[in-house]
Amino acid sequence: MNHRRLEKGFVHVYTGNGKGKTTAALGLALRAIGHGYRVFMLQFMKGSKEYGEIKAAEKYLPELTIVQSGLETFVDKENPSPEDIALARQGLDMARKVIMEGNYDLVILDEINVAVDFDLIPLDAVLDLIRNKPNHVELILTGRYAHPKIIKAADVVTEMNLINHPYYDGVEARKGIEY
Ligand code: ATP
Ligand code: MG
Repeated sequence: MNHRRLEKGFVHVYTGNGKGKTTAALGLALRAIGHGYRVFMLQFMKGSKEYGEIKAAEKYLPELTIVQSGLETFVDKENPSPEDIALARQGLDMARKVIMEGNYDLVILDEINVAVDFDLIPLDAVLDLIRNKPNHVELILTGRYAHPKIIKAADVVTEMNLINHPYYDGVEARKGIEY
């Protein structure tokens, strides 16, 4: 690594029911890449390659690595499949490795708050990650239902407040906007 590093990396949480958590993280990724930083995004509970951010990263952004650790289907909170749990744990192991190696300046753990809320991964493991990350790594945790202990451990906490969403008028998710 011979690029500049952050002097002190902070921990961000983007939570709440409104739109904009994952896209805020991607916006910060774009900004960081513009200044020569490297970004790793791990998407928990997602398995579809149809996301615009995955296509854009592959085509235009070699400094942005996106890895998914979920199935394409939705996870049933009351009854997650063994595969849902196994993939989330693999994601957590990879996140730990990437963060501790310190080769990425910004690490985004997308939907990790939901993976904790659904009991796919243990809260304590996420708190350990926050506590033990290398000083220069900036860490973002996104997803609804952020646990109060995660919120307490973070430096930047933003709640996207749902005021309206076209979903409630029956508009389905649109390519390039919702995914
Ligand atoms: P985005 O990825 O657009 O930034 P998000 O990360 O804040 O959204 P998630 O909770 O991860 O939102 O939602 C997953 C998907 O549902 C995304 O496609 C998102 O755009 C869309 N969405 C966000 N908020 C709502 C809502 N209140 N109702 C329905 N769909 C929503
Ligand atoms: Mg999201």
